[in-house]
Amino acid sequence: MTVRTIDIAVIGGGPAGLTAGLYAARGGAETVIFERQACGGQIITTEQVENYPAFPEGVGGAELGELMTAQTLAQGAEIALFTEVTAIVPADGGFLLETNDAPMHARAVIVATGAVPSKLGIPGEAEFTGRGVSWCATCDGAFYRDKVVAVIGGGDAALEEAMFLTKFATKVYLVHRRHEFRAAQVIVDRLARHEKVEPVLGNVPVEILGDPETGKVCGLVLRDVADGSERTLVLDGVFEFVGTTPISELLSDGLVSTDERGYIRTDARGATGVPGLFAAGDVTESTLKQVVTAAGAGATAGFSALNYLETL
Ligand code: NAP
Repeated sequence: MTVRTIDIAVIGGGPAGLTAGLYAARGGAETVIFERQACGGQIITTEQVENYPAFPEGVGGAELGELMTAQTLAQGAEIALFTEVTAIVPADGGFLLETNDAPMHARAVIVATGAVPSKLGIPGEAEFTGRGVSWCATCDGAFYRDKVVAVIGGGDAALEEAMFLTKFATKVYLVHRRHEFRAAQVIVDRLARHEKVEPVLGNVPVEILGDPETGKVCGLVLRDVADGSERTLVLDGVFEFVGTTPISELLSDGLVSTDERGYIRTDARGATGVPGLFAAGDVTESTLKQVVTAAGAGATAGFSALNYLETL
């Protein structure tokens, strides 16, 4: 079988991958972006993005993803949709990419696979996933019209999604383990004024309860971190926003350096330390995980990959 060889493979079609692909293609490299689902990354399940420059009124997450995709295609990058890269194997001075379709050989690779929402790992979570436990308010919020929900977490995602859920739910408990939120102050202030939101601070979820008759979520057991006492919130849905986990399993053990949570370490050029292998966006150890920083890191990695090709 003949294996196609390209200049630059970008793995992941979120803001980092699309921008890396834009720069690589615009720099004249034959570029393929591999995306296993839909382009746009995590923002496509975000209702509104208010902190990406050039949109004074904010922009819908899905719309921003579509605009980025269109721009990258217009610059000549190819997008291999529904194509999952399952392994990156150094071979013939470049990398052999094993996929769920035909394998491909790339002279340089940019890993921009992003991250997925983390799970709490408490009893009831797996059992009631899709039956009251969710990680996406944009996808599932409308099922909770006139119902009571809890949002878990104290970061930007939790508070923004809690605000979104107030459109549907009669009450939104905002359960956070500490007494201060880590989200941007503007959204903290907005939620503090919202009559449907009840913060439940200093509490951690310990179990999600289901109704044996309906098979759906009916309660959430919380433990007070100060005194260990437990209580149960009666509700219909639990939305978890407790951080993210990097998607880095396609990299074999030891191929690149990662931190203890699996985020890929890169230098300021997006280089991983393996010649020709770069990384950008939420899969990396970056301190600020935003659309704008992912796009910036993607640009840097695309530029660095072009420079690397010059050295071959
Ligand atoms: P995050 O900022 O890491 O926040 C995760 C939250 O979950 C924290 O409040 C954390 O509590 C809590 N948490 C973690 N593990 C927990 C557990 N086992 N039990 C209970 N609570 C737990 O994650 P994120 O909100 O998903 O955001 C990820 C990144 O994307 C961040 O860099 C964020 O700024 C960015 N983001 C930005 C926007 C925006 O700018 N519009 C929107 C969404 C996400 P502690 O606070 O006590 O650690």
